[in-house]
Amino acid sequence: MSEPILPGAVLGVMGSGQLGRMFAIAARRLGYRVHTFSPEYDTPTGQVADKEVTASYDDETAVREFAREIAVLTFEFENVPSRTVEWAAEHCPVRPSGKVLHICQHRLREKEFLAGAGLPVAPFRRIESAEELAASAKTIGLPGVLKTAAFGYDGKGQRKLAPSDDLTAAWQPFAGQPAVLEKFITFEREISVLVARGVDGAITTWPVCENEHANHILDITYCPARIPVEVAARARELAHKVAVALELVGVLAVEMFLLANGEIVINELAPRPHNSGHFSFDASVTSQFEQQVRAVCGLPLGSTESLRPAAMANLLGDAWSKGEPNWAGALKLPEVKLHLYGKATPKPGRKMGHLVAFGRDVDEAAEIVRAARAALVPHS
Ligand code: AMP
Repeated sequence: MSEPILPGAVLGVMGSGQLGRMFAIAARRLGYRVHTFSPEYDTPTGQVADKEVTASYDDETAVREFAREIAVLTFEFENVPSRTVEWAAEHCPVRPSGKVLHICQHRLREKEFLAGAGLPVAPFRRIESAEELAASAKTIGLPGVLKTAAFGYDGKGQRKLAPSDDLTAAWQPFAGQPAVLEKFITFEREISVLVARGVDGAITTWPVCENEHANHILDITYCPARIPVEVAARARELAHKVAVALELVGVLAVEMFLLANGEIVINELAPRPHNSGHFSFDASVTSQFEQQVRAVCGLPLGSTESLRPAAMANLLGDAWSKGEPNWAGALKLPEVKLHLYGKATPKPGRKMGHLVAFGRDVDEAAEIVRAARAALVPHS
């Protein structure tokens, strides 16, 4: 096994949003230096990094130069082109590997991988034409969800299909690129499990998160999820199996649907820290961001035990609709933690920050976090 990368070394992160920012904060706390690479300036990650490189992922010279200066490369988003990762890999270790990224940046590859590993996914078919859509709709049965195979997130590039829909018309916006038709799953709850795997193969999972969405964007996360202990154990076991099957080094989120009969279906993977794991920065012995540092540096993983039941609420640009939010109003609640990502322009639907609150149980924590968020909007 390779030598660990020790504090003082330079860690590289591709992508420069809030996930990279929190990774950089965790890395700096441990005494590392952080460089970030993305096509943007004055980014959430760049603002707290030692160096912000602004260049295209297709700029081979810039990618190689970046990779030469760092001890290891990791990611805060998975849609970095494969050849960018290959260039970097000639100069430094890349964790998670290009193989993991390649699988997770494409819904079809991801589902085929999971199904091939014997893990539960919704019935799905590859679709490349209106005819294939019609044929697969018959085999799988509608309702279903049609999703672009690449570059979808937060419900973008997908559409629910009802049995009465005109499938030829529904296919039009998807034409020209591969898509996936999935059976619509009637779930009771959406849950996620964050899992980390170290260079030595050690694996940790955090307690299961329960997620509520609004307009396809994560709204509230409760941790621990309000589910039976036995179901939580199965969900964590599934995430563990995903990490083993992928030979992951780093942190990965496994989004799942929990059905009324207790069955669990994996929806999708994100090979990086995840919005549903933000609670861990305040509410866990080791956050998902610190664990990413430990994992990619080849250090022992930390405990994922929760300190308190917690709830996280996302803060979208919509909170600025009546002017600058009333920060003091939210912070008046002493158990509330405020995280802002340093983004200059609030736009509706844009993730600007989040709030975390604690409670005797997650319902109480959620009540507090919702009250804090409501207090942000100035009264007219
Ligand atoms: P995704 O982009 O795949 O994470 O999907 C976004 C959201 O759409 C999920 O969080 C679910 O609420 C919903 N969704 C996606 N796929 C399905 C499915 N097969 N059945 C039911 N709901 C789904």
